[in-house]
Amino acid sequence: MQTNRRLWLKYAGLGMAGIGLTGFRSYVSPVEDYVSKNTGVAGQPVILRSNENPYGPSPLARKAFADNASMSNRYHWSIASQLVAEIAAKSHIAEENILLGAGSTEILDLSAKLAAVSKGNYVIADPTYDYWTVTLDHLGMQKIKVPLADDKRVDLQAMLSAINGDTKLVYICNPNNPTGTTCERDALVECISATPRNTIILIDEAYLDFTKQQSLCSLVNDFPNMVVAKTFSKIYGLAGARIGYAIAGKAMIGKLANLQSNTNNSVSVLSKLAAIASLKDDRFVSDCRSLNESARKYTITALEKSGCTCIPSDTNFIYFSLSAYKKDYFGQLENNRIQGTRIYEDQGKWTRITVGTMEEMKMFIKAIQ
Ligand code: PLP
Repeated sequence: MQTNRRLWLKYAGLGMAGIGLTGFRSYVSPVEDYVSKNTGVAGQPVILRSNENPYGPSPLARKAFADNASMSNRYHWSIASQLVAEIAAKSHIAEENILLGAGSTEILDLSAKLAAVSKGNYVIADPTYDYWTVTLDHLGMQKIKVPLADDKRVDLQAMLSAINGDTKLVYICNPNNPTGTTCERDALVECISATPRNTIILIDEAYLDFTKQQSLCSLVNDFPNMVVAKTFSKIYGLAGARIGYAIAGKAMIGKLANLQSNTNNSVSVLSKLAAIASLKDDRFVSDCRSLNESARKYTITALEKSGCTCIPSDTNFIYFSLSAYKKDYFGQLENNRIQGTRIYEDQGKWTRITVGTMEEMKMFIKAIQ
């Protein structure tokens, strides 16, 4: 609670500077606001299921939503260009290398549709983030699943070996969901170089902001078959605002844009304005990173003490084994109104838990002890 208090004071100051004294009374820090509403106080469930950011949206994004609600009567197409310009400046890439989407899900979906135009197969790690692949499956693409390496990282060599003449897309989630593991950047670059140029290589960096690794987006002009999927859903806390983007070479962006009826405008004006504001809120991002790190460290230590082996995580979720856990894990969660997720690998009974606030993780640990 100490940390939360400190952050509240800091954000209260930011609120005053940003919205003036009249806004101060109604201004609540994201941490305080979330904790008061969602950590069981009003009997709400604790949601540790979808790797959302418990602290977001950032104060600047909240202000953007509140101040601009009345703009929603018009399309305001030009705001898309403003957001593209902000992303380009922040990522040190050209505007022509960016396409906005309704969450990174739309980017994954557009890549899937592009790959499926010429039929064939796609290569994907197992387990990984694969909800979006229903599009590929419905479009008749054959799925080639590649098991993870023993350390639960994506096995890049095995992914490469699985590619054949009919492979139209290779998906690499880095860090990988659900395991929280990151591949070395050099190994990724090697893998991308070795992927045939007529195969789309789709790199999902949804959780890269939680790590110290540099994005691969600076390489998109060297690899015309590469698409990097980015999202505002995780570190920026805008999951419900549905905003993400692709970074790719100009020609690839053109091909993806051809499959989007209104280029860059599947996202609402308010979400775009909130994203622009979020990009300016570096302090919020670094606070989320450090709050996440402390809560993650606490949870891993406590899980290990309870006999659950954990995979070292670079993200806001933890992959751990229930093999040695004696109680009914899912029953314990249900009885305590905590929402976790499923078993991903039967062998070893591996499951995942999202890292919430420290208070939530204490409730989680108490519930399973
Ligand atoms: N990619 C990964 C690895 C995810 O875990 C998620 C959501 O959990 C997504 C993409 C989709 O995110 P969104 O559509 O909210 O950007």
